[in-house]
Amino acid sequence: MKIAVIGAGAAGLAALRHCVSGTYGDQVVCYEKTDQIGGTWVYREETGSDRYGLPIHTSMYKSLRTNLPKEVMGYPDFPIPEGPESYLSRTEILDFLNAYCDHFALRPYIRLLHNVELVKPVAGNRKWSVKVRDLQGDVVVIEPFDAVMVCNGHYFEPRTPSIPSQDIFTGKQIHSHDYRVPEVFDGKNVVVLGAGPSGMDLALEISKNANRVILSHHLTETIATVFPENVVQKADVVELKEREAVFADETKERVDVVFYCTGYKYNFPFLAESCGVRVDSNMVTPLWKHLVSIENPTLALIGLPYYVCAFSMFDLQVRFVLRHWHGERQFPARADMLRSEAEEVAKRAERGLQKRHFHMMGPEQGHYYDDLANVAGVTPLPPVLTKLHNNSSMRFQDDLVHYRQDRYRILDDYNFVEL
Ligand SMILES: Cc1cc2nc3c(=O)[nH]c(=O)nc-3n(C[C@H](O)[C@H](O)[C@H](O)COP(=O)(O)OP(=O)(O)OC[C@H]3O[C@@H](n4cnc5c(N)ncnc54)[C@H](O)[C@@H]3O)c2cc1C
Repeated sequence: MKIAVIGAGAAGLAALRHCVSGTYGDQVVCYEKTDQIGGTWVYREETGSDRYGLPIHTSMYKSLRTNLPKEVMGYPDFPIPEGPESYLSRTEILDFLNAYCDHFALRPYIRLLHNVELVKPVAGNRKWSVKVRDLQGDVVVIEPFDAVMVCNGHYFEPRTPSIPSQDIFTGKQIHSHDYRVPEVFDGKNVVVLGAGPSGMDLALEISKNANRVILSHHLTETIATVFPENVVQKADVVELKEREAVFADETKERVDVVFYCTGYKYNFPFLAESCGVRVDSNMVTPLWKHLVSIENPTLALIGLPYYVCAFSMFDLQVRFVLRHWHGERQFPARADMLRSEAEEVAKRAERGLQKRHFHMMGPEQGHYYDDLANVAGVTPLPPVLTKLHNNSSMRFQDDLVHYRQDRYRILDDYNFVEL
């Protein structure tokens, strides 16, 4: 098969690693629009657009340390090497991805500075046409492929809520996608919107520079973590005035900066409508197992599920897809795939989850991994990954200030210890 991989972040590298392994003798090309592999782990000071006029992809900030221990962040056949810390810096993860790329000799297959502009099915949906711009030469080529793995990441298109009178606010408004260093908040009163992992982390990080940080969220349970004294929690912001934020409890605060830590939108700007992939409130459909396009199963979207052990899951998803593409497992009939997706929609709705949580895994991630491995007949991921991921998430909630000092060791497929 001739396979196109779009993006050379952690997911694209996993895709390449299995496509070139020799198991199937596939021909593969990986297009990467930036000048480096590593995706969001590549730190760039610039925000906005790059020299080619493309939006800056990375959302990485300077001081970032991982929010998961390295013991669950490696690939199944390429773990992150032993070392004193469990929570690593962004540069250590980027170095690790480069080591992975070299270990499996992936670089010859990667075309850097090649932006995929359009993917569409052709020849009666039996092939794909991929239109790519070589950014350096400013030349466009259109290449045919048998299958496409979309690995373009999911943290690059900011989701910013609409707030009444947002446009009359005279202070600064910034999304976490464009955040790099805390100095921009020196002495400021900042309202942080959103208490997901990045809102919590960033409220803590900027509290060293800001005068006052108001963490605004609608979580029903109080956040257990003890924040520094200059961080307070408040309900949702319901209105902005010239220099004030008005909260749902009708209180007001004078603020200099509104800091949106409100997440990202799934976006596949290069997929033609005829690909048959829709995004509605961050729910991507119709897909079989959050992964394979039901309209055309030779299109796979790697990495949609979140709150997962990302690199291992990417690897598993890629192995799942390749087994099916190469006929070692048959895709179910279209109607059965649609039914399976509808059942999952119903189950999640019963649990009170909204559309935008359709791809959320969290404590349930182990079931997803087992299902993929069973259906495809590939080596499963060890249950210890889910166990340790859940432990780390709990520690994050309970003790944000110190949890990154925790150190772990995995003992076997089921057990880990805290050192
Ligand atoms: C601030 C931040 C912190 C995070 N911390 C953690 C953490 O601690 N632990 C963890 O497990 N995960 C973390 N994540 C999640 C992280 O996104 C995943 O771990 C993983 O790196 C995602 O890999 P990816 O390959 O799917 O996407 P990306 O890393 O985003 O890579 C996508 C690649 O596709 C390229 N691309 C996009 N569009 C095109 C196109 N049209 N043509 C060609 N190339 C294209 C991009 O340039 C990019 O290189 C974090 C994410 C963010 C934003």
